Amino acid sequence: MKVAVIGGGIAGAELIRVAAPCPLEFTLIEPKKQIEMQALYPEYLGGVARLQDLAAPLKPFCERVGAHHIQEKALRLEGSTVVCERSQVEFDYAVIATGAAQNYFGIRGVENTFSINTLEETKRARRFVEDNYPERIMIMGSGLTGVEAASILAESLDASIYVIEARERVLPQFSAQTSELVERALSKRGVNILTSTQVAEVKKDCIMFTDDTCLDCDMAIWTAGVKPSQFIQDLDLPKKNGWLLVDPYLNLKSNLFAIGDCAWVEIDGRLATKTGLEAERQAKYLARHLSHLIKGRALERYSVRASTDSQVALISLGSDCAVGVVGKTCIGVPTRLIYSLKSWIDKSFIKRFK
Ligand SMILES: Cc1cc2nc3c(=O)[nH]c(=O)nc-3n(C[C@H](O)[C@H](O)[C@H](O)COP(=O)(O)OP(=O)(O)OC[C@H]3O[C@@H](n4cnc5c(N)ncnc54)[C@H](O)[C@@H]3O)c2cc1C
Repeated sequence: MKVAVIGGGIAGAELIRVAAPCPLEFTLIEPKKQIEMQALYPEYLGGVARLQDLAAPLKPFCERVGAHHIQEKALRLEGSTVVCERSQVEFDYAVIATGAAQNYFGIRGVENTFSINTLEETKRARRFVEDNYPERIMIMGSGLTGVEAASILAESLDASIYVIEARERVLPQFSAQTSELVERALSKRGVNILTSTQVAEVKKDCIMFTDDTCLDCDMAIWTAGVKPSQFIQDLDLPKKNGWLLVDPYLNLKSNLFAIGDCAWVEIDGRLATKTGLEAERQAKYLARHLSHLIKGRALERYSVRASTDSQVALISLGSDCAVGVVGKTCIGVPTRLIYSLKSWIDKSFIKRFK
């Protein structure tokens, strides 16, 4: 049985790692040379994490587990073939795991800001910080990425850091208790928090808001929101809000599956969050599900662990401080221990591929 896995991020790479060795013949279609741990990008930006902590080369990993690596972008699906930039990959099953793209919401000038959504972008942002010593840094968006980046930059730079959030509190997708705790931690680090503040336009050296006020800045970083990539938008498959809509077995239709950020996983009223935690769990589930399928056995339905109405997360707030969230409960102490746990989880994920 030939399985094409499109996307070698957390979900795609973990699926192959867990499934191998098995009678399935895996082909990984991934344009990058390495698998990357996005959760460590903020620490890389702040000069705390090293490249080897957050990336592992795909070639030796694929050789070890007996998978083929096609270092190309998938362009489209044609029947049971993935059409890539230069080659075509035939499959019995295909798994789509291409992640999500940055959403700029059509706001003028935002495409010209810095982002920490990919390693290349994060490297560019870090180079800018090292070469230009910006004095005023605006971080737009206060989700996990925004608050983690603000904390680490406030700790490592002698600069004024601002977090700009359109909604009424930081981390609006989390409980009010979590937002309060994180806001206090950010303020302690000297981060300026502007909530209920909407960006209208980003200019070369200032940010304009919808109430016609503006703030000067030397560096603007956009962290607010993701959307389905062009590849996903172009696929003629079941979708919800643009994401690939899977059933409780992570199946899209017939021999096609989707996992991780590109999928809309809503099972028994629980919508999966777009997090590494969910991507990894979905990958592990599908690895078992595929091996059951070829043996003609049924598997239980997938169960969502980190859902939008009951978040599970470890949020780092500097290089020695993190909080844990389980549902409505936010565990703020001991911060160092929680940070060590998060750091260990993130780094040990990458070590599995080395
Ligand atoms: C800065 C940042 C911090 C984060 N922190 C945390 C955290 O602390 N905890 C947590 O749980 N989650 C965190 N997340 C979210 C987490 O990283 C994602 O949910 C997770 O990476 C999703 O895994 P994935 O495999 O679906 O997508 P990705 O890891 O993004 O991988 C998708 C892969 O698909 C490839 N690809 C894309 N298009 C194509 C194509 N057309 N053909 C072939 N390949 C393609 C890409 O190159 C990429 O390698 C963070 C995200 C960011 C950006």
